[in-house]
Amino acid sequence: MKKVVKFGGSSLANAEQFQKVREIIKGEESRRYVVPSAPGKRFDGDIKVTDMLYHCYDLASSEKDFGNELKAIKERYYEIIRGLNLDLSLEEEFNQIEKDFHDHVGVEYAASRGEFLNGKIMAAYLGYEFVDAASVIRFHEDGTFDMKKTDMLLGKKLEKCECAVIPGFYGACEDGTVKTFSRGGSDVTGSLVAKAIQADLYENWTDVSGFLLTDPRIVKNPAVIETITYRELRELSYMGATVLHEEAIFPVRKEGIPINIRNTNCPEDPGTFIVESTCRKPKYTITGIAGKRGFCSINIEKSMMNSEVGFGRKVLQVFEDQGINFEHVPSGIDTMTVYVHQDEFEEKEQQVIAGIHRAVQPDFIEMEADLALIAVVGRGMKSTRGTAGRIFAALAHANVNVKMIDQGSSELNIIIGVENRDFETAVKAIYDIFVMTQL
Ligand code: ASP
Repeated sequence: MKKVVKFGGSSLANAEQFQKVREIIKGEESRRYVVPSAPGKRFDGDIKVTDMLYHCYDLASSEKDFGNELKAIKERYYEIIRGLNLDLSLEEEFNQIEKDFHDHVGVEYAASRGEFLNGKIMAAYLGYEFVDAASVIRFHEDGTFDMKKTDMLLGKKLEKCECAVIPGFYGACEDGTVKTFSRGGSDVTGSLVAKAIQADLYENWTDVSGFLLTDPRIVKNPAVIETITYRELRELSYMGATVLHEEAIFPVRKEGIPINIRNTNCPEDPGTFIVESTCRKPKYTITGIAGKRGFCSINIEKSMMNSEVGFGRKVLQVFEDQGINFEHVPSGIDTMTVYVHQDEFEEKEQQVIAGIHRAVQPDFIEMEADLALIAVVGRGMKSTRGTAGRIFAALAHANVNVKMIDQGSSELNIIIGVENRDFETAVKAIYDIFVMTQL
């Protein structure tokens, strides 16, 4: 059995957290490949090392003194080393970093040092081999990620390592220029390592006990999702539920490797399993509820629209030409409504309206702002009668006016549009009807 274990920044913020992590890793022989993030926040209001590095490099690149800032970063690492009683010096590494900052080697290189240094400490602490991600995670010259080469390099290298630490978040181009993934990208590294070594499981250790059924800022102590499919997760995360970097699921998904989200601070909690498919019935009919405020609807009406071939394409082309992403397009016989993000749309509003007039000569266009979309997601809905009925009965009871309903034929989710001000009431009402009443 081979497991890849990735630990997020809060799991490695100080020596105490490192000790918990070691215990977790040593608790199972199969936890052989470790992907660490940079040290995160130790307390509310603290600064992540990655942010300190960005700031420090900012000063360096504008030829300002960054001595104090670099010293503060050094102190974060030495605090961990001292706390673990490790006989490890990072002086050489820090001298190199200082020199590279003076030479303006690049902001991505700067940011990557957070994981690099944490990886060095982790490898020394565990007695595992340190594998620099720059040598095994490959990027193309244009900054895009090179999956094929990475898979090959990682596979070849790790084949020879019984146990290894591979820092997250970065890699390099062929010529050695360091590149990073977007923020939170150590999740992606973990997934790539899991794919390359054909791991049995990718454990992603963080500071929550898995995915919550809904936003804890709206519902107090929501239930934890035990098992979720990749498709369900995509539906929920695009609507705002984030625990995992969204690009992290693709490499493992292709290989059918499950991800287990775990809590470093409560290692006994089973967390959430993310799987390709499962015949395990979800505990509740729905798997999760997510949503976002800040949408706008553009309703286009034209009589006989339904017999005009190409109408929808022409309308959507206008949005495409303005670089606006659409979210949903529910339609009627002579109407079509396009849901977009308000902030993206607002500044281009007049161009879009003019464009639609030119493209399809509608009878009229009506717009509404300040809308929220809620996604009720669940593989269990397909085989359960009355799910939609229960959702809308609950919303009616809660006095929420439903502005839009969209259910794809996959029956994996139902999207509901409400006014921004009804958003929280609606989420609570849906949660209560499925979870609190336990049906
Ligand atoms: N340290 C990086 C960040 O703060 C990457 C990560 O933690 O995954 O975004």
